[in-house]
Amino acid sequence: MANVTSKYSKRLDVLPPYLFAHIDALKAEKEARGVDIIDLGVGDPDCPTPPHIVRSLVQAAHKSSNHQYPSSEGMLSYREAVSEWYAKKHVALDPTNEVLTLIGSKEGIAHLPLAFVNRGDNVLVPDPAYPVYKIATILADGKPIGMPLSAENGFLPDIDKAVTDAKLLFINYPNNPTAAVADDAFFRTVVDYARDNDVIVCHDAAYLELTFDGYAAPSFLSVPGAMDVGIEINSLSKTYNMTGWRIGFAVGNAEVIAGLREVKSNLDSGAFQAVQEAGIAAMTGPQDTVDALRKLYAERRDALVDGLRNIGWSVEKPKATFYVWVPVPDGSPSLEFSLKLLDVGIVATPGIGFGEHGEGYVRFALTVPVSTIEEAVIRLEEVV
Ligand SMILES: *Cc1c(COP(=O)(O)O)cnc(C)c1O
Repeated sequence: MANVTSKYSKRLDVLPPYLFAHIDALKAEKEARGVDIIDLGVGDPDCPTPPHIVRSLVQAAHKSSNHQYPSSEGMLSYREAVSEWYAKKHVALDPTNEVLTLIGSKEGIAHLPLAFVNRGDNVLVPDPAYPVYKIATILADGKPIGMPLSAENGFLPDIDKAVTDAKLLFINYPNNPTAAVADDAFFRTVVDYARDNDVIVCHDAAYLELTFDGYAAPSFLSVPGAMDVGIEINSLSKTYNMTGWRIGFAVGNAEVIAGLREVKSNLDSGAFQAVQEAGIAAMTGPQDTVDALRKLYAERRDALVDGLRNIGWSVEKPKATFYVWVPVPDGSPSLEFSLKLLDVGIVATPGIGFGEHGEGYVRFALTVPVSTIEEAVIRLEEVV
């Protein structure tokens, strides 16, 4: 067929360029030339899935009842495990209509606008942010409206300044890429705004469990009234090192969940049941692996933050996530700075890749061992 690219839909044409693919290509080029790369770029845990979860998958994969189409809302037993897990830590949920299995949280985020957004509808998305909120909005023909996050406001959007005629609002705490956390007071502001203006809230809680120094992050749903205005999307990816498995869930307002379920029932046929059984093993089994993971990321965070401070960089010590969000120390544009880091074999993500208000920062992911972080700090000292 001639000239296929000219046939791409307008939807594809207006997607922002994927900066990370550019950096990946440059990284591959360096690697091919034999440069020893330290990759602090991607937000993908380096540790394996705990063995008891893997064993559960192996057993479940042998069951022929798991070989057929799953239901699009997911197994009731999985949804019950989610509701028990939430009840222990956060809020009570009805597994029959307030919980929905997702094929990873990205899937749920990407499908949500299709359930609620009409052409041209406003959708509030943080800037900087995980790119999926904006892209899913564009793919649903909605209009993304950025809410700037800055150090001065603790990387919390100024909800009072948000447009009032929005259909949907995305927030994400603990936050990627800034590693900021939100308190109940902020979530209460969001609930008030959503109730006053009739806006649906989607809180992405992918890092809810990855907190340090005794800090526990609140669920959005734990704030009074939140269940009336929105949902929380969560994932086993980061908590249990299961990014490759594609398993997560949406919880919260039953009508919002029903809208998302309706889209899913028409576009996918649910998550492999054996993976859902492994998810049950993750949520109901021993949680000491999660404690160990928190400790591991805290040690790496200390190695990086203390190391950077020792070489004169000014860096906040995050309370959660496995990212460190660092002001570019020499004031150069973040993309230019990331390319400089690549020259010494370090991959970090330029803030601009997360939105225009991410400019001036780079994000380091704590997905390598402490010894490698120490080597990275030595190389970083050369750069500036
Ligand atoms: C990693 C991540 C997710 C999780 O994605 P999955 O699809 O569940 O693997 C969701 N939101 C943010 C902000 C993330 O960084």
